[in-house]
Amino acid sequence: MAKTSLQVLKFGGTSVGSPEALRLAVERAREAAPKAVVVVSAMQGMTDLLLSAGSAALAGDRVAASEAAGQYRTRHREIIEQMVLGPRLRARLLASLEQSAAQMEAICESVAVLRELTNRTRDALAARGERILAQIFAALLDERGVRNQLVDATKVIFTVSTGDGLWPDFPRCERAAQKQLGGPLSKGLLAVVPGFIGAGPEGEVVTLGRGGSDFSAAILARSLDASRVTLFKDVDGLMTADPRAVPDARVLPELHYREAAELAYYGAKVLHPRTMVPLVEKRIPLFLRNTFNPGFSGTRIAQDVGAGSYPVKALTAIQGQALLSVEGNGMMGVPGIAARTFAALSAAGHSVSMISQASSESSICFVVPQAEADGSKKALVRAFALELQTGLIDAIKLEREVALVAVVGLGMAGRPGIAARTTAPLAKEKVNIHAIAQGSSELNITLAISQQDCAKALRALHQEFQLDKLRPLADSQGREASVVLFGFGQIGRALARQLNHQQSYFRHDLGISVRVVGAVDRSGAKADERGYSAAALEELCARKEQGRRLKGGKKDLTLPHMQGELAKVLFPLPLARPVFVDATAQDDAQLILDVLEHGFNVVLANKKPLAAPQAMFDALFATARRKGLALRYEATVGAGLPVLDTLKKLKEAGDEVRTVLGALSGTLGYLMTELGEGVPFSQAVRAAHKAGYTEPDPKDDLSGMDVARKALILARTIGRKLDLSDVAVEPLFPKEMAWLSGPEFLAQAGALDKEFASRVAAARKKKEVLRYVARIDEKGIKVGLESVSEGSPLGRLKGLDNQIVLYTDRYRQNPLVVTGPGAGAEVTAAGVLNDVLAIAAS
Ligand code: ADP
Ligand code: ASP
Ligand code: MG
Repeated sequence: MAKTSLQVLKFGGTSVGSPEALRLAVERAREAAPKAVVVVSAMQGMTDLLLSAGSAALAGDRVAASEAAGQYRTRHREIIEQMVLGPRLRARLLASLEQSAAQMEAICESVAVLRELTNRTRDALAARGERILAQIFAALLDERGVRNQLVDATKVIFTVSTGDGLWPDFPRCERAAQKQLGGPLSKGLLAVVPGFIGAGPEGEVVTLGRGGSDFSAAILARSLDASRVTLFKDVDGLMTADPRAVPDARVLPELHYREAAELAYYGAKVLHPRTMVPLVEKRIPLFLRNTFNPGFSGTRIAQDVGAGSYPVKALTAIQGQALLSVEGNGMMGVPGIAARTFAALSAAGHSVSMISQASSESSICFVVPQAEADGSKKALVRAFALELQTGLIDAIKLEREVALVAVVGLGMAGRPGIAARTTAPLAKEKVNIHAIAQGSSELNITLAISQQDCAKALRALHQEFQLDKLRPLADSQGREASVVLFGFGQIGRALARQLNHQQSYFRHDLGISVRVVGAVDRSGAKADERGYSAAALEELCARKEQGRRLKGGKKDLTLPHMQGELAKVLFPLPLARPVFVDATAQDDAQLILDVLEHGFNVVLANKKPLAAPQAMFDALFATARRKGLALRYEATVGAGLPVLDTLKKLKEAGDEVRTVLGALSGTLGYLMTELGEGVPFSQAVRAAHKAGYTEPDPKDDLSGMDVARKALILARTIGRKLDLSDVAVEPLFPKEMAWLSGPEFLAQAGALDKEFASRVAAARKKKEVLRYVARIDEKGIKVGLESVSEGSPLGRLKGLDNQIVLYTDRYRQNPLVVTGPGAGAEVTAAGVLNDVLAIAAS
């Protein structure tokens, strides 16, 4: 089973707004326990109700205020009475509710008397919505048998005043969270924290702005360095537009942090605009999921998401805005008008959300919230009194009931024609555009239009950018793998690149998510538990290609040191379905055993561990079985060819393999083809060496040991108990030459030409050809030169191709033959990739 790591879950208002929703929410929390922090909001509508009590009291409307307090009481009492079964727990919660409701009445009374409602008082009123709900949630968890600890947000979220309001004091939050939450979490308790609130500069309770519980979850995730944050809502995820305005809106499978931040900032109510801030730096992925549709994978928001094929991914709108414009032909070329405009607004405390200046410079227009429209206009009239008098500025105009529509997508940058595609459909719908602006990030285009046209405009844009055609990701729930590349040579890099290349296909069509979380070479191990982005992985590949090492330095780690390095860097990581890919050529069976013991599935491209003594081979598979892990090795024989897979299928179908013949070396296959065509042996070896088909020392291929290992793996796969020393190997050079260096051997290989030429000629007389064959039969394993009929499958084999010929009880006369390219980094990596996918999908 995959190790779990700390995650933060948040349940929004609708997810805790009814008994049915709460039951589902508790279930989600139970699944995530114990390594989880649960943030809860207030019941749907509760914050509005609490704030309305304050406003009513301020207006002196005591009746409305006390009615609100009454509703606060009854809505929660209903939930407690319906859901909490234990009488003692129930009584305790009801007492707590009563105390909170009485306090609310007292606060409202004093507001009504003083006719003053400070921020502090407003926050004190609003905070009770999440606080009571957190108590209820913790009680429900208790009853469900989920051990948990309730921790108040004022103990873990601290804020400081900045120029524009409160902002989390991240270092302090971090210390506090570790102190307050670290203990319970390490004891296996789930932590429950009310969202939306925190402690102010003087320790008072403050709120984080409407929708702020999203932000709370993100702050806590940052503080605890969580592996992910999941916001549970009443929609399937972040959608291409607000589904209430655009019925065709689709769920976005993935979004970049910046896109999500842009959407939230421009009004997408589904996310608090600051949510991404704490997550970006630590690259903590954010998931949006539907409490009521637990089978759906939702939206993933992260750093590694690319632009994709849709230049525009989503639309959003903010209503209730006003457009102000400073106009006058006299302004043209007069410097400083824009600067003075914004200085005046800022001095009066107004913030501007969109600015657009006509290129003629004869007007500047900008958008402010409607509530600030009059104040803003007044500030400008004052600032430009002189210019208005002299006619340098003609007018300061105000247009109310304006909406801002933002068109957002990473793929817009540098893509011409998006602006035109934005305005054309609006013109067609007769929507008047007051102003248009493109953010310098080129991530969005913002349009100011009349509020009444807003829904129409959103629908037209949605259609123009074909967002209704967006395809959701296949569900990847649990179908995932966290891959560690042990060995970052040619095969490791080919695999990394194939993964990068196929990523989107895996996600979209197979619903499988494969991330590379670690890379290891002789210099040591590098890891990123969240997974390397495509760019980061490519960078590692490029680095290796330049001959640089992953961790720099000069010293190569010995195998025992490497084991220590893995224990330090990789084993402690909380990884979902970890897969250790051995693409080295070391004798590392002991290390692989250790890796299995630490809960990693293993995929081998390396033959050596499987050619280890039988006892070690058995220990590897026994350990994998005991730990419920996969140990796959398709790429060790015939690279990407489905050799072992075929053997497995035969066995599953009850067939018995009797004899296996194999041409298992691309290099030797090439040599044999050349010899058959009359090329002298030494010349063929030199050509193969030059083309890179051989190992640096060609004797490593010609010794037959590599083929012997593959044959041993095949034999063991069909159940034979044998060791490498049992394999009868015929090298392609005499013993005396074994001591020569590679270059020496190449220089002296001519001495063997005559011998080979006569063997070829003898074979040809019988209409046969020479092949380097691995033969596994009841007598054992033999690896060496054989003379085979020209017309046989082995005889017809050409060049670098591999072939495995299987004689079984069912394939007795006509053997089952698997033929194809059996060497090279690309096809070997492809074989490994298949094994990784099989593990991810299991
Ligand atoms: P929470 O339950 O966490 O408080 P919210 O109610 O704040 O969740 O946000 C969810 C709501 O946001 C949805 O019900 C939906 O009506 C609205 N919404 C607006 N824009 C979008 C969008 N682009 N994608 C999904 N939902 C959206
Ligand atoms: N309850 C708060 C609100 O309604 C916070 C939240 O729901 O996220 O704004
Ligand atoms: Mg919300």
